This record gives sequence, C-alpha cells and structure tokens, in this order.
Amino acid sequence: MAFDFLPLPYGFDALEPVIDARTVEIHYTKHHATYHKNFVAAVEKHPELMDLSIESILADLNKIPEDIRNVVRGNGGGYYNHTLYWANMGPNAGGEPKGAVAEAIKAAYGDFAAFKAEIEKTGLGRLGSGYAWLSCKPDRSLVIHATMNQDTPLAEGLTPLLVVDVWEHAYYLKYQNRRAEYLAAWWNLVNWNVVEERFLAVK
Ligand code: MN
Repeated sequence: MAFDFLPLPYGFDALEPVIDARTVEIHYTKHHATYHKNFVAAVEKHPELMDLSIESILADLNKIPEDIRNVVRGNGGGYYNHTLYWANMGPNAGGEPKGAVAEAIKAAYGDFAAFKAEIEKTGLGRLGSGYAWLSCKPDRSLVIHATMNQDTPLAEGLTPLLVVDVWEHAYYLKYQNRRAEYLAAWWNLVNWNVVEERFLAVK
C-alpha cells in the first residue's frame, strides 16, 4: 500500500511540555488521520493513481483528474505535511543543527539565531492557516517560506527539509492566540538528524 498512515514516532506525551499530550493526540488521530482517509478515498476513484508516490502527486496537481483535484490538494497535502512535521520533532531534541545542513544554514543566514528569527517571522506572518518551512531549491540552495492551508513546497518545485505547523489546531489548547510563544518553544523539539538526512537526500 503506497499511501501508508505512519505510526506517530513517539507517544502522545513525548513532546511535553512544549506541545501538550492532548494536542498531539487530537492532531494525529483526528486531523492527520482524517486528511489521510479523505485522500485515500479520493485516489481510490482513480486507481491508476495508486501507483504514484505522494510526492509525485503533490508536485504536479495538474495531472490529477479534475473531479478529485481539490480534495487531493487539501487532503493529500494534509496527509503529507503532517508526516513531515511529526518526523522532524521528537523528545530530547532541539539544540543546534550539525553537519551539511548546519553549514548551508550558516552560509545562507549568517548564524543560527538569524535563521531561527527568519523562520519565526515567516510562521507569524502566515495569516490564517498554513506552515513555515525550510526548503531546498533544485540547486541545493536554501529557502525559508510559508505555505497556505495544506499546500506543499513540492508544488513550488522545492524539497522540504523542516516544517512547523502554524494552524491553530497545532497549539491552541496550550497557547491559544500566542503563536509566537509556540514558535519560540518549538525549537526545543526539532530533530536535526532528520533535517540533515533530508538535505543529504536532495539530488
Ligand atoms: Mn496540523
């Protein structure tokens, strides 16, 4: 089955105190699971799509039959984006990046503090729902950007390296309207090993 719903790589309470267990549970078992279910239901109407990867589908939505295109854009994006988000967080994480991605960040943004400030500014500036990203261009240069709703970097020809969900459902129980506080605390969860693997995998 090509479109697996991956298990959460840690327990619901593993991201405490930065993200509370109830938020993780609802986010994963309700929001993420529903995006996956709706996406699979849409694709099943066009079985020829079952042979494609999720990345290939989201990179070129114009090839998706029109009757399911919007459902795939929103729910396929929601399925994919959340998988990346869960994977680039973890308990006992945070700190500063190492390796090739650390060097690329330093080259592009000067230092880690400036990089963090740019991600936080981008996440705060995403009016409404969406994500802030560190992504990679085809020439392997880095870009910090936001996407709206469940749109993905893939649709812009970019490879995602790091993502933070700034939909209210990601932080509202604990932080309410204080998105900046969530973003500042979120750095304590970043699994930089995963970000490095994603960067090294870019061809
Ligand atoms: Mn979310």
